[in-house]
Amino acid sequence: MPTANPVPADRCDVLIVGGGPAGSSCARGLAGHGLDVRLLDRAEFPRDKICAGWVTPQVMQTLAIDPESYGRSRVCQPITGFRVGVIGRRIAEVECGATVSFGIRRCEFDDFLLRRCGARLRLGQRLESLERREKGWLVNGRLHTPILVGAGGHFCPVARHMATPLRPREIPVAAKEVEFLLDPEQAEHCPASGNRPELYFTEDLKGYGWIVRKGQWLNVGLGRQDPDNFPAALERFLDYLQAEGRLPPRTSRRLKGHAYLLYEWAPRPLYRDGALLVGDAAGLAYLRSGEGIRPAVESGLLAAEAIVASGGDAARAGRLYRSAMVERFGPRHPAPPRPLTDLLPLAWRPALAGAVLGHPRFARKVMIDRWFLQRHQPALEPVRAARLPDPDL
Ligand SMILES: Cc1cc2nc3c(=O)[nH]c(=O)nc-3n(C[C@H](O)[C@H](O)[C@H](O)COP(=O)(O)OP(=O)(O)OC[C@H]3O[C@@H](n4cnc5c(N)ncnc54)[C@H](O)[C@@H]3O)c2cc1C
Repeated sequence: MPTANPVPADRCDVLIVGGGPAGSSCARGLAGHGLDVRLLDRAEFPRDKICAGWVTPQVMQTLAIDPESYGRSRVCQPITGFRVGVIGRRIAEVECGATVSFGIRRCEFDDFLLRRCGARLRLGQRLESLERREKGWLVNGRLHTPILVGAGGHFCPVARHMATPLRPREIPVAAKEVEFLLDPEQAEHCPASGNRPELYFTEDLKGYGWIVRKGQWLNVGLGRQDPDNFPAALERFLDYLQAEGRLPPRTSRRLKGHAYLLYEWAPRPLYRDGALLVGDAAGLAYLRSGEGIRPAVESGLLAAEAIVASGGDAARAGRLYRSAMVERFGPRHPAPPRPLTDLLPLAWRPALAGAVLGHPRFARKVMIDRWFLQRHQPALEPVRAARLPDPDL
């Protein structure tokens, strides 16, 4: 019996796996350059993402989003101050005098970015197989691409494929949150104010919890770089908020979890073997705040720039991307340094942390301005992509 000819694989110039802020930013950066760019995501959009949904103005600037227009039909809560300190210690009220951040809902924000990104979208399709071919990759047995971008978040399948057996152990930040619409009674008895998110560090400074109110939505969560003791720390945090009267009635204690890696010592490559990793797939979150949306957006755009400049040569794109990332975010270190607080006797640490972090001047100048707002790091230049229509702005 004659054998049927195998179906030739479909081809594209760049395949992006993952449609979060990293993937959609990369796609938008590639738009207008005459490339056939496809973006694959296992989810149908809008989809949710476990996140507090706080973004800095630099993100809006880089993405050329006007918060006012964006907020006309979506949640975009201006933030003008913070309530910060250590759990059970002195709490500082910090007033910034201007809008310094925004609270968004990820289901809306990510959908907005994805719909305007300009790539050919393949949603509801999971990356199932990856085969290295002479000139690129064969994806799911039917799509060939010379350049692959892994933007699938912390558990990105491209990052998993690139992992070597002898790679150093990863030390993730474990984080959990719950986000819900306040009913009228809860809204009336919710002390959290939309323009002043609350940040509460744990006494050992291994993480912090938050209350972020975005209009009628409330997000409560905790992130810690100490996964073993996470459940106990979360219980203590929720008990504390309850005792202080910071939670509205009937706030659920069933939080959903995810993880991410911090840029400084994430043992993941930015480029290997014809594939670039961006966003959480590469482990890029900021050390002190855990902010991951900004590095996701910036890495996506830097990867796009490198791909365009490489003229389609994956190895060259990888080298350009890696050096642009080191220039922007600094070098990575093999392992986390011992925190200075480890030099202090155990019994002193909580009191000292409480006194320092709850001091209004320190809270404003160091914790908020440097750690959380990264005011010293200007926004990456706005997207240079050809002007694409924005969805219903
Ligand atoms: C509890 C919590 C709170 C946080 N709060 C904040 C905050 O307030 N501000 C902030 O800046 N950062 C925050 N972060 C970090 C931030 O959420 C991430 O850094 C950011 O989402 C990274 O974006 P990304 O595009 O790299 O990945 P993601 O947003 O995770 O997107 C990855 C995409 O890949 C897709 N995907 C995964 N696997 C596959 C597959 N096999 N096939 C196809 N598609 C796939 C997923 O469906 C998803 O759409 C928080 C994180 C957590 C866990």
